[in-house]
Amino acid sequence: MTARILVVDDIPANVRLLEVRLLAEYFEVLTAGNGPDAIETCENGKVDVVLLDVMMPGMDGFEVCKRLKSDPATSHIPVVMITALDQVSDRVRGLEAGADDFLTKPVNDLQLMTRVKSLVRLKSLTDELRLRASTTRNIGIEELLSRNFATEDTKPKVLLVDERKSSIERIQKMLRGSADLDVATDPNAGFFQAAETAYECVLISTAFADFDALRLCSQLRSLDRTRFLPIMLLADEGEEGRIIRGLELGINDYLTRPIDQHELTARLRTQVRRKRYNDQLRASVTQTIEMAVTDALTGLHNRRYLDSHLETLFDRAVARRRPLSVMITDLDRFKSINDAHGHDGGDDVLREFARRLRKNVRGIDLACRFGGEEFVVVMPDTDGPIAEKVAERIRAEIAQAPFAIGSGGKTIEVTVSVGVSSVLRGADTVAALMKRADLALYEAKSGGRNRVVAKAA
Ligand SMILES: [Mg+2]
Repeated sequence: MTARILVVDDIPANVRLLEVRLLAEYFEVLTAGNGPDAIETCENGKVDVVLLDVMMPGMDGFEVCKRLKSDPATSHIPVVMITALDQVSDRVRGLEAGADDFLTKPVNDLQLMTRVKSLVRLKSLTDELRLRASTTRNIGIEELLSRNFATEDTKPKVLLVDERKSSIERIQKMLRGSADLDVATDPNAGFFQAAETAYECVLISTAFADFDALRLCSQLRSLDRTRFLPIMLLADEGEEGRIIRGLELGINDYLTRPIDQHELTARLRTQVRRKRYNDQLRASVTQTIEMAVTDALTGLHNRRYLDSHLETLFDRAVARRRPLSVMITDLDRFKSINDAHGHDGGDDVLREFARRLRKNVRGIDLACRFGGEEFVVVMPDTDGPIAEKVAERIRAEIAQAPFAIGSGGKTIEVTVSVGVSSVLRGADTVAALMKRADLALYEAKSGGRNRVVAKAA
């Protein structure tokens, strides 16, 4: 795993110390000796993780962190604050500034590497989502982010998995007001509950009498539904080894008992904020992909989708020596429908046509709006005679009942012409297949419309 780490410290010897250790693990290292330089480097370069000293003259680490986190261009870069003293008040201040994690000087090697690696992993996930979201849609990532901030006020739904009554009561009291908390006292039940409910974070206690909490962490990480669910481990003092194993398994954060209320709520807020941000990006990517391949008017696939999939279906059919047919349908005299009933009336007809078309093709068939009033259906595993029957069924379905237009009860008669072609044995191409269907459609039109013509294979 290679990544670019920015080390920020006002004392050159400290910078050098961290730099040497990171270089030994093959990380790329950038350095800055003060806050403004650090911010500039983050704005300009590709920084994956920032290791940020708290005590610096001029602008201190808290301020640097706050500025990085409030600028949409840098807010997704994980920041690890490096504090001189392991003081809860410093941690809370840092978390409130938006820090993702902490290390205490002198920095323990194992902790440094585990933390950096885990944040780099998270960052690369976020980067991929950001890239996909911003390249496939015109709306900027910044706008997505600002929308995300609007949802920050809702209380997160959180699951606590713990069997000790006193500990449960303490956590319940601490989170009253800041989270909507469910409790599972049995780890197995907790696993199913986490998989079935849309939690935004799960807190797992390590203190089970005969259950290893890390097993639950690993189960949650291996299940699709909970892969991205933030996990925070509630550990006891002296459990460093277990925490490190947990981090390797993919837990997101941990707290050591006695748990401080401010630290718990601040860390929980960080996890929830990150999850909401990534969820938003993921949803935007999915929506963008759907929009790019769907015809907005009819909900069928669009021509772009057909172009990218027909070739694949064709090659597969040829390779497996299976039949494949296509039909091109064209609504008869559609221009006169538009002229007589306006474009809204025309749209009503197209929507209803698409609905009837969809009803008469199978799930494996690919139905698309090719453009205007032309639709194409690709039918895998279907030979010419069967494709012709399907086409005839669709033609009859369109002609047998009039189409409703507008909401005033007006109806009109609509008919469709269909051309069908099938893949030929021997040399054939997608272009030739489509060309034959197009010729068949032309014959159907010139032969009087409201009919099916098939080009025999
Ligand atoms: Mg310093």
